[in-house]
Amino acid sequence: MTSHLQPLSLPGSADWLTWVAERGDGQLAEARRLVDELKANPPAEALAALRRWDAVQTAIDNAASIASLFAEVHPEEPVRDRADELMQEVQKLSTDLSLDQDLYAVLAGLSPDGLDADATRVLERTLRDFRRAGVDRDKETRARLRELNEKAVLLSQDFGRNIRDDVRSIKVAPERLEGLPQDWIDAHPAGDDGLVTVTTDYPDLFPFLTFAADRDARADLSLAKNTIAWPANDAVLQDLLAVRRETASLLGYDSWPDLDAEVKMIGSGQAIAEFIERISGLVAERAVSDKAELQDRMRQDHPDAELASYDSSYYSELVRREQYGVDGQKIRTYFPFEQVRQGLLDVTGRLFGLEWTPVAAADAGTWHDEVATYDVSLDGRRIGRIHLDLHPREGKYKHAAQFDLVRGVTGRQLPEGVLVCNFNRGLMEHDEVVTLFHEFGHLVHHVLGGQVDWVRFSGVATEWDFVEAPSQMLEEWAWDADVLATFARDAAGETIPADLVAAMRRADDFGKGAHAAQQMAYAARSYYFHAEPHDDLSALSDELQSKYSVYPPLPGGHMHCNFGHLDGYSSGYYTYMWSMVIAKDMFSAFDRDDMFAPEVAQAYRDKVLAQGGRADAADLVADFLGRPYSFDAFAAWLSE
Ligand SMILES: [Zn+2]
Repeated sequence: MTSHLQPLSLPGSADWLTWVAERGDGQLAEARRLVDELKANPPAEALAALRRWDAVQTAIDNAASIASLFAEVHPEEPVRDRADELMQEVQKLSTDLSLDQDLYAVLAGLSPDGLDADATRVLERTLRDFRRAGVDRDKETRARLRELNEKAVLLSQDFGRNIRDDVRSIKVAPERLEGLPQDWIDAHPAGDDGLVTVTTDYPDLFPFLTFAADRDARADLSLAKNTIAWPANDAVLQDLLAVRRETASLLGYDSWPDLDAEVKMIGSGQAIAEFIERISGLVAERAVSDKAELQDRMRQDHPDAELASYDSSYYSELVRREQYGVDGQKIRTYFPFEQVRQGLLDVTGRLFGLEWTPVAAADAGTWHDEVATYDVSLDGRRIGRIHLDLHPREGKYKHAAQFDLVRGVTGRQLPEGVLVCNFNRGLMEHDEVVTLFHEFGHLVHHVLGGQVDWVRFSGVATEWDFVEAPSQMLEEWAWDADVLATFARDAAGETIPADLVAAMRRADDFGKGAHAAQQMAYAARSYYFHAEPHDDLSALSDELQSKYSVYPPLPGGHMHCNFGHLDGYSSGYYTYMWSMVIAKDMFSAFDRDDMFAPEVAQAYRDKVLAQGGRADAADLVADFLGRPYSFDAFAAWLSE
């Protein structure tokens, strides 16, 4: 029972700098104290020793959670900087512990006899983490691993910085802006030379590639985008790949993908290669027909030109508008922000049997007055707290993500999660509504999975390539006419018409084959770059683009230099599509004509979400579906 647990006490209008320092340093000091004690006086009982180790992890997590959250969302810069420093301390302590042979000796000496399934899994996973860090290697190898680790961090930072800092641009005459929305044109006046500057930053790039009718201008901007960080990042990437290869080899793995995939659902590097082939085979026909449809439409404007990558957004948009009659301006009127937020809470509350009780700002004590806080109850019992920080402001994280504030542990701490997004304050785009449902999927997983005995398994503690599946699945509710009818109403009180939702869905379905094929072209780069050494990454990048995508490689482009995910995902960019396969399969258990049917939703809640990391994701999914996961639902979705 967790009902007596209290939420974290936040300082509200008081001194955040002191609060972050005290909470962060306090938790790290507690972790160090517990480790010293564990090494000096290890408990005789394995269970007691594991509990201590879990308490160490809890304290480190508590510090890491506030560090990563407040570095991204706190309105005061000194607080964000302090949170960054705290994160460095967290990382240093974590690395030190992962290579601490005395600590490892204590844990490796524990006998699993008499431990229950959860505790046995904690022990196995803990020892696996230590081995994957290299704690059991000789002294020189450990020193080299630490060196490689530090080198990798610096190379990652270089790779990201080179992309961020290298903003490129093109200049075009104002008459070449035809097709762009008027507010975009107004925000881009001509300079003294009479020309308009268009940069490769997203707020310029995406509207331009989607709406600019001038094909040559789209080609120029696309080439500018695809040469960002070239040639600097080619060398950085080669160094980073070499560091990863050596790390994997020192740890006894055949390749970096094998090391990386060992702790994922997919399991091995070979399985990644097979997955890419399998998805490519499934989507090939649909991808070719998508391309043909775009090529047909383009012939009206350019009778002899071959469709290129920089034509895909523009002609997709045109086909959607002309053939599916979907008007984004009209759709927005059904989605006023406050109404959508309440609608989301009502929908997910009904689905999962949860109650959301607003917490007054004075009691919540959050970092900004636009943050909305709710207590979460299940069967009349408080099981967590959530904070919704959904609008942009200066210095705030620019994307959409769920952050932990506290990871839940039964009897010890109440789970608290935060959604950080950047939505319009007035009317929302339907895309934003979908994003809100997606991110909320992570938040619900964090809270429901936060009722477990071990922090190791708390919340979104499953394999990394499963993490997106619950969120991708919850997006389906934002595409259902009956669900949307519960909250999507315009100012006159008119509910969004079901035939409009149907048209939106048809428009969204268009192009999914070509999109999936392009995703596989990215996944193939991510995998094959890491699988073995290559002298010419540009050549390999072009070869993989030709093989997997329906769009030919861009002559003169070097997209691998600005493909930021090569750092964060390394060889695992396949995960987005992998999660999608699982999400479609899990969704097949629901009744599309009755998306609120409580039995299936609650079985999903209890068998998948509430389990956190207590079992392998494949087993959780099999338990929910009553069979192992399969590709059938994904294949069926592709043919819709
Ligand atoms: Zn996500």
